[in-house]
Amino acid sequence: MESTMMRFPLTLSCVLERAGAYFERTEIVERRPDRSIARTTIGNFYNRSRALAESLMKSGLRKGDRVATFLWNDTVHLEAYFGVPAAGGVVHPVNIRLHPDEIAYIVRHAGDRFLIIDAALLPLLEKIKNQAAFERVWVAGAAPGAPLPAGADHYESLIAGANGNFTYPILNEDDPAAMCYTSGTTGRSKGVVYSHRSIVLHTFAEVMPDAFGISQHDAVLVISPMFHVNGWGLPHSAVFTGAKLVLTGMHFDPAAILDLIVSENITVTGAIPTIWIAVRDALEAQPTRWKIKNTLRAVVGGAAPPAALLRALEKFNIKLMHAWGMTETSPVATFGSLKSNLLSLPECQQFETRCKQGWSVPFMETRVVDAGGAVVAWGGRDPGELQVRGPWVAASYYNNPETADRWTADGWFKTGDVATIDADGYICITDRAKDLIKSGGEWISSVDLENAIMGHPGVHEAAVVAVPHPKWQERPLAVVARRAHSEVTAAELSEFLSGHFAKWQIPDAFVFVSEIPKTSIGKFKKTALREQYKDWKWC
Ligand code: ADP
Repeated sequence: MESTMMRFPLTLSCVLERAGAYFERTEIVERRPDRSIARTTIGNFYNRSRALAESLMKSGLRKGDRVATFLWNDTVHLEAYFGVPAAGGVVHPVNIRLHPDEIAYIVRHAGDRFLIIDAALLPLLEKIKNQAAFERVWVAGAAPGAPLPAGADHYESLIAGANGNFTYPILNEDDPAAMCYTSGTTGRSKGVVYSHRSIVLHTFAEVMPDAFGISQHDAVLVISPMFHVNGWGLPHSAVFTGAKLVLTGMHFDPAAILDLIVSENITVTGAIPTIWIAVRDALEAQPTRWKIKNTLRAVVGGAAPPAALLRALEKFNIKLMHAWGMTETSPVATFGSLKSNLLSLPECQQFETRCKQGWSVPFMETRVVDAGGAVVAWGGRDPGELQVRGPWVAASYYNNPETADRWTADGWFKTGDVATIDADGYICITDRAKDLIKSGGEWISSVDLENAIMGHPGVHEAAVVAVPHPKWQERPLAVVARRAHSEVTAAELSEFLSGHFAKWQIPDAFVFVSEIPKTSIGKFKKTALREQYKDWKWC
């Protein structure tokens, strides 16, 4: 017997059509480079995305062709997110904060044929022009009459070239729609190619009440750069549900973020811990400047947040919700919603649970595997490698056969994260395998230490790295940025940790710096710290 159901492809063009039909008047807001606010509607975005698709096809875009973007979080980027896949192309948001040589490598490796670039980023194009060439370049946001690079055209003339007589090419749900490269925190960037189906299914999972919980009643702020894992899926989720979408443009400072949260009545957003730390500091410095009326559902991910951060932001009506994911998982894989059986726990235990990385969203399967290759049962205390599989998990990297060993023979992706899974299914990440500290044969979690140090009121940020040691092989060294006016000392921090850690786990040295170096997306750059302190003289 066969099912009697239709086979209906899950494509982004369907999402776009529905948004155009049902949410025509819903607002889309963006912060312009000059910090002013611009407003448009989903109806206008719908027309322009279709115009982009039509004009790209007229310009010779073939199915599967890559269109790179050098753009911030703005409406042109949103049009590319939908218009390029609607034409059968693959939108490739490039991380413009990487080194130009890395950008040139990524563009060449991806085989990007066309480019849509913001006028403010033209100097970057100039820097890579001898290493990477595009067949066509369209420049957005250039002042009328401003000179463009040879052969480049205005993005607006591309949009104006469409006559509205557009029919979508036939799209298969498994066709490629978008690609992102990993941000290279632990090695060379690798490409992940998302399909229409994987993006649509990821969007369904993301908007669920036990995940980001987004509906057409929400106002969604995209803080994570749209070149980092599809802007965490938020642009897709807002268009999918008809929520009001607010885009940060190129301004990610805490005042710019908080202004938008208040003025646009944001209800859902997401960002990495370092952004939330800066937001907390801004709120504590000026407690009456921003009044957040309704509780903000604020997702935190990309790295583990300190418990003290959750508590501090809650006082300002920002409820941090913990999620875990990777470029390879589109990104959302687990979400830390409190399960109903845990609601009766004392408040401190609820906080403890909320600091874990959460449980799998539907169709995402997770397991922890020990060094011997055995699957560790839930509730096991010994950490192992976290492995995942599911409909929006990469099955390979783009054109990178030498990385095939990141997948197991039975089809699981090896994340490189070290974790346990508790009896309720919550994942708790101890560390990235490369960041664990091996001291005298015992493993020390750098994440646990740094989050405990960041719980000290005198600390702004802290990163802990392994430094070679003649006797113990490696020992933890803490690099600490104090908060303004704080004079906290190494001895005080050591004493502060002694309540929570065994003596041998506590860093032997604390180095005070004005700022912790960050990766292109704002995570602590531990590779740089390990390099900087590799010759540390232990006394
Ligand atoms: P990169 O690998 O270049 O940092 P990604 O953004 O894909 O780029 O990072 C994914 C990694 O980020 C995960 O493997 C994990 O180590 C870390 N990560 C993501 N979310 C969390 C989280 N909530 N807690 C701890 N680590 C996280």
